[in-house]
Amino acid sequence: MNLNSKNIIALGYHDITEDLSASFKPPSISAAVYTLGRSEFRQHLALIEEAAPKRPAVFTFDDGAASAYFIVARELERAALRGYFFITTNWIERPGFLTAAQIRELAARGHVIGSHSCSHPERMSKLGRAALIEEWTGSRVILEEILGARVTVASVPGGYHSMRVARAAAQCGYRTLFTSEPTSRVREVDGCRVIGRYSIKRGSSAAAAAAIASGRRLPRMRQWIEWNAKKPVKFLGGDLYLTARRLLLSTQCQSF
Ligand SMILES: [Zn+2]
Repeated sequence: MNLNSKNIIALGYHDITEDLSASFKPPSISAAVYTLGRSEFRQHLALIEEAAPKRPAVFTFDDGAASAYFIVARELERAALRGYFFITTNWIERPGFLTAAQIRELAARGHVIGSHSCSHPERMSKLGRAALIEEWTGSRVILEEILGARVTVASVPGGYHSMRVARAAAQCGYRTLFTSEPTSRVREVDGCRVIGRYSIKRGSSAAAAAAIASGRRLPRMRQWIEWNAKKPVKFLGGDLYLTARRLLLSTQCQSF
């Protein structure tokens, strides 16, 4: 997991659950779309390893759900891999989320712990400067207290990235910032390396994830086109996008 190269393929996962049967209840509406079953995730790891043995992808997990400890880390370790776990610090110790002791243990086992803000703002890029600094610094301080070590990695919640968000992260001491832009090209903003991610959603097949991880252009380009097509709606018609997204997510949730 060398984060110093100019091109990095990072995969953005969220939650992994024991099984995605009809009884599965996601911790939140949006979580459902981003949740994979454990056996499905195991298949992803196996195929990714097979497709790109010499170029391990970067595995990232947002939000800090308890599954990071109970399922994800174990599955990664089973495949001799380690992950990046981004924690929403206000959610630490809440039911369904990681505890401080679990976060410490994950770090001790070689995983990387980073910030995913304090409160997971709906639109990070809309925050004023003071609030941005508060989100980045507050979460870093809490994680550093838990870990007794510096925290220099973060990921942007909700995909609402902007230059201001990156500058604020750099100012708050972060040296690596993961966004949700599906690109492998790494940029640098005020000494902070900004790395995109390819999002892996519920229903993304292991073969599709492996194709992305191995660097195949077509599936990556497809994500990039989709992401950019949504951009004007997402950034210009912000409220409309959020309403539509909530509606869409709740419709999808009703199906299980
Ligand atoms: Zn998130």
